[in-house]
Amino acid sequence: MTIHQLSRKNIQALTPYQSARRLGGRGDVWLNANEYPTSPNFDLTDRTFNRYPEPQPQGVIEGYAHYAGVQPKNVLVSRGGDESIELIIRAFCEANDAVLYCPPTYGMYAVSAETCGIACKTVPLTADFQLNLSEIARRLDGVKVVFVCRPNNPTGNLIKRSDLLTLLQMTAGKAIVVVDEAYIEFCPEATMATELANFPHLAIIRTLSKAFALAGLRCGFTLANPELIRILQKVIAPYPLPVPVADIAAQALQPVGLAQMQRQVADTLANRADLQKNLEKLPLVEQVFPSETNYLLVKFQNGQKVFQTLWEQGIILRDQHKAWGLQNCVRITVGTTRENERVLGAIKSI
Ligand code: PMP
Repeated sequence: MTIHQLSRKNIQALTPYQSARRLGGRGDVWLNANEYPTSPNFDLTDRTFNRYPEPQPQGVIEGYAHYAGVQPKNVLVSRGGDESIELIIRAFCEANDAVLYCPPTYGMYAVSAETCGIACKTVPLTADFQLNLSEIARRLDGVKVVFVCRPNNPTGNLIKRSDLLTLLQMTAGKAIVVVDEAYIEFCPEATMATELANFPHLAIIRTLSKAFALAGLRCGFTLANPELIRILQKVIAPYPLPVPVADIAAQALQPVGLAQMQRQVADTLANRADLQKNLEKLPLVEQVFPSETNYLLVKFQNGQKVFQTLWEQGIILRDQHKAWGLQNCVRITVGTTRENERVLGAIKSI
């Protein structure tokens, strides 16, 4: 047998996640991964590299719990929010179970499920990018984990809170509901963390990759009740967080770090408003969807042409042409003022 044939069948069939970095491009304006456009500055304070790190570093757990308004026992830290997605599937899904998610949405729910050999059920969002609750209810049989991205990537909008509460009620005792809040800092009042006390089957995913401007750190969190957290702790790697990562994450969660994050959010929101207003003036733009995040989903007359033309000029955006219902749409991360001007100028001259 070839090495390929020796690998698991589901891995042979797997299309890996098309991450922004994997897609490549030779850009000087990177607006395809919803990163913050500039890097914060931190110095390492812990240089004990000879020792294994704490499995769940106390400074990070306590800092994040305090920031999120929960108790430390409600927090698990992992290698990015992406690791949390996989931990939940690994811990809760048997071979015959399924996960359910609602496209267009974040691609890693499907990739992680497929990697684990778990079936995916999809119930597309409605035309206004909301949950189709009656269809979800109809398809819940055998579903162990439901993923809801809120605010949703790539559409940028919030799923209605009342719909999410209905979903939580209909899944009680049957499935875990994962609410992915990777972009929640851009609309903090929308968090579902306040509902943890009411729903033992709610898990919330968070990250330092977006508003905290620390995508390079690879640090994310799961917020849930202690029973669920303890289950994830059984399957997570023994030392998920490298010493330098824990060191910098703990600093980012101190008051000075949090204040810096708030400034980054304020800058992003101001730049997003400008970008949106100026995009709406361009004749090639059909629609700029409302956004609660650090990116804008934009529908063009010919989205692929816009994407390709800017790509060739070193302006790397995220093409959404193949995403469910998003023909001619491109996702644009809010960049610096200068980067946003480059985007607008390049589209104008098509
Ligand atoms: N969820 C969503 C919706 C995302 O967009 C991302 C980042 N692309 C993640 C989770 C994962 O973030 P990270 O692994 O960088 O923490």
